[in-house]
Amino acid sequence: MRLHELKTSAERRAVVEKESGAKLDAISRNSLPEDTRIENMVGATQVPLGIAGPVRVNGRDVLLPLATTEGALVASVSRGCRAITESGGCTAIVLKDAMTRAPVFRLPSAKEAVAFTAWVGSHFQEIKAAAEEGSSHLRLQAIRPWIVGRNAFLRFEATTGDAMGMNMLTIGCGKAVDYITAQTGADCVALSGNMCADKKPSALGLIEGRGKSVVVEAVLSAKTIKDVLKTTPERIVDVAYRKNLIGSALAGSHGFNAHAANIVAAMFIALGQDPAHVAEASQCFSLFEREGDGVHASVTMPDLPVGSVGGGTRLPTQREALAVLGAKTAREVAECVAAGVLAGEISLAGALSAGQLAKAHKELGR
Ligand code: NAP
Repeated sequence: MRLHELKTSAERRAVVEKESGAKLDAISRNSLPEDTRIENMVGATQVPLGIAGPVRVNGRDVLLPLATTEGALVASVSRGCRAITESGGCTAIVLKDAMTRAPVFRLPSAKEAVAFTAWVGSHFQEIKAAAEEGSSHLRLQAIRPWIVGRNAFLRFEATTGDAMGMNMLTIGCGKAVDYITAQTGADCVALSGNMCADKKPSALGLIEGRGKSVVVEAVLSAKTIKDVLKTTPERIVDVAYRKNLIGSALAGSHGFNAHAANIVAAMFIALGQDPAHVAEASQCFSLFEREGDGVHASVTMPDLPVGSVGGGTRLPTQREALAVLGAKTAREVAECVAAGVLAGEISLAGALSAGQLAKAHKELGR
């Protein structure tokens, strides 16, 4: 019997147990409804959930849900939250809001590819109407063309309300492509031509942004750095400069940060975001600069695809975690994730500059 022909998780589990010899008792215990929209469901994998914070974000004290198996992570983020909140909180600002999808078209020649992109530019309103037809939230903002040889890449940029928007835009983009091909005869080779760039680290995502582009900042006093982080402004700035900037440049890394992926992954899993987007969301800049007697700390995340509705946010445990976060809109989710990353970055930069990293992991992580 093929698994997809069975109606319930229990039936599929029985088959898997028989075929594999494994017992799925723990996997069977969960709160998920049967209609979770994945195929061949047999149960759920559980990840421990911890709460870091509170951290003051734009004047609101926020608790941060983190789903992780890494010991010391929740404690570390909590320490960063304390440093931020004792310093008066952080300010998070959404700079840009644009989900993207980029189909690739093959034209007979480079000359015709150029003419094709010119046609797209002069028919934006009709293409926009086709894209938005099936959604009450999708709003196409721009179509940006790139030509390589006789290939034309069209990068669709859209706002998607409070949804992360990848399904919404892919469906809308499909309708727009149907309209474009019917009008021009151009051959769409793939609805996603990787200039999106979805679920991959890319210079394009870092520079142009994708989903929400967010900056978050806090000013830490010398006293807070001494009391909470057990180090000095000079040391923390020096560690961040040599590690986040020089080390990342030497490695050819897009991640000009200490461990943003740790917090992004843990918050994405807890809050029902798509964990595959950690690949792009974790490329960000963590900067520490001297300010007064302390430090100006900031994190800039150009490529943060998040939502407060749709996708995995519908699941029961993820909805509860979103309620703990208290973020009702996609923008608020983005601001809180960025604040969590800032807290994690501050704490790790502090631990490294105080020589505490290995000690904390030995005590808390093993
Ligand atoms: P979605 O659940 O597919 O769509 C959001 C739904 O929520 C729409 O039906 C929308 O209505 C509705 N909605 C209600 N209130 C809304 C509000 N205030 N703002 C926005 N929408 C609202 O979610 P999605 O964010 O588009 O897609 C997320 C999923 O895409 C994730 O599961 C992710 O894993 C997956 N994904 C897909 C692709 C792909 O290529 N398809 C790629 C990466 C990830 P309307 O329809 O009327 O707008």
